[in-house]
Amino acid sequence: MTFEKLGLSEELLHSVRDTGYTSPTPIQAQAIPAILEGNDVMAAAQTGTGKTAGFTLPLLQLLNTKPPVKNNRARALVLTPTRELAAQVQESVFTYGKYLNLRSAVVFGGVKINPQMMKLRRGVDVLVATPGRLLDLFQQRAINFNDIEILVLDEADRMLDMGFIHDIKKIMALLPKQRQTLMFSATFSQEIRQLAKGIINNPVEIDVAPRNSTVETISQVVYPVDKARKVDLLSHLIRNENWYQVLVFSRTKHGADKLVKRLSRDNIHAAAIHGNKSQAQRTKALDGFKKNKIQILIATDIAARGIDIDQLSHVVNFDLPNVPEDYVHRIGRTGRAGASGQAISLVSADEAKQLQDIERLIKRKIEREEIESFEPQHIVPESVSGKSSRNKQRANPGNNGNKPKRYKGKRNSASEENPRSHRYGKPNSSHHRNNSTSGNRQQRSTSAERPAV
Ligand code: AMP
Repeated sequence: MTFEKLGLSEELLHSVRDTGYTSPTPIQAQAIPAILEGNDVMAAAQTGTGKTAGFTLPLLQLLNTKPPVKNNRARALVLTPTRELAAQVQESVFTYGKYLNLRSAVVFGGVKINPQMMKLRRGVDVLVATPGRLLDLFQQRAINFNDIEILVLDEADRMLDMGFIHDIKKIMALLPKQRQTLMFSATFSQEIRQLAKGIINNPVEIDVAPRNSTVETISQVVYPVDKARKVDLLSHLIRNENWYQVLVFSRTKHGADKLVKRLSRDNIHAAAIHGNKSQAQRTKALDGFKKNKIQILIATDIAARGIDIDQLSHVVNFDLPNVPEDYVHRIGRTGRAGASGQAISLVSADEAKQLQDIERLIKRKIEREEIESFEPQHIVPESVSGKSSRNKQRANPGNNGNKPKRYKGKRNSASEENPRSHRYGKPNSSHHRNNSTSGNRQQRSTSAERPAV
């Protein structure tokens, strides 16, 4: 399959060639023709599958054939759950639309509203927005939705997770009924299907990654380790394996900050990205990471969602997420678009339940390896398929013939990042790309102030 066969215009093919992509990813091969034909689309595709280009390319092509936009109006609206994802989507609009004469803007909370209002004055062809700020702009009459022809809901599942359902419903009620709607989601839960019912009309359904499967090219390993020794192990791995541009996941914001401080004592340059950081701090951390000035980026699950850093070689779970689906999202940061990657989880005995839930979700046991000098005193019980991890007797088969020691250590009680407590798209995701990628994106700013396309 080639991009030429998908029905894209010469200008768009030109920009695709500039990015260096040689062939469309599966989501692109299916979504692009369906969208160009004017269909509504519901696509199950995780971040990393190339979904952004999958909707951006045809959207730009459709907009390019129609009359120009009027003041304070937009013709296509892309809703995203977080600021980072919004900035990245606009970056794609910018990249792929560079040979077209279309205007775009990105709006999200946490930054001044006035410059965003100014930008909308002349109207934009593509508006990328997080839901809360979009509603604020609407209330201030900075944007009128009457000319919206195409609506994209990106990472719809995450929007629901983050408590945006009411904002989304409000926005839906304001949009013209006659429009093309595209919904992208990592998974199609019942909740998502329910949401889609009132929004999408007879959609073409595309499913490129079986639900909750982990990407095949990612090798996954668990390093059992005592909780108290996790930081030392992480520091040891970073130094011994010479890791650069590694994304480390922390379950809590506090944990992420502590890790940065602790690693800096070992002269490891790390930065944290989470919901308590300002937009400027997050942009700086991400930018430093992409430019290789920051060796290790530590992110919470929400902060890490959607951040687009390609071909990340390693992702480390410093602790396991409580929600097993987040594991799939986390490790999806590596092995992107077919590249290989490694996902490493540092697992202590008190995380046996989380590990069991993850292994049950992905329907496989993750290989375990002990690291010399870091062998755990407290054995991490093996998961027992189909059995509840509450049954600790059964969940302790004791591999290697050793009777696992019982661990009664405290659970990590630090508070979890709670997206619902922050109205405007919390930070979400982080990604980085390796030096090896030509990635012209690396050079670009993710600022909301980027000039329109
Ligand atoms: P996304 O799933 O949209 O976040 O895309 C993940 C990454 O895949 C993007 O940053 C692109 O750099 C990369 N990508 C998108 N399309 C292709 C393609 N056709 N070939 C290779 N890489 C791609």
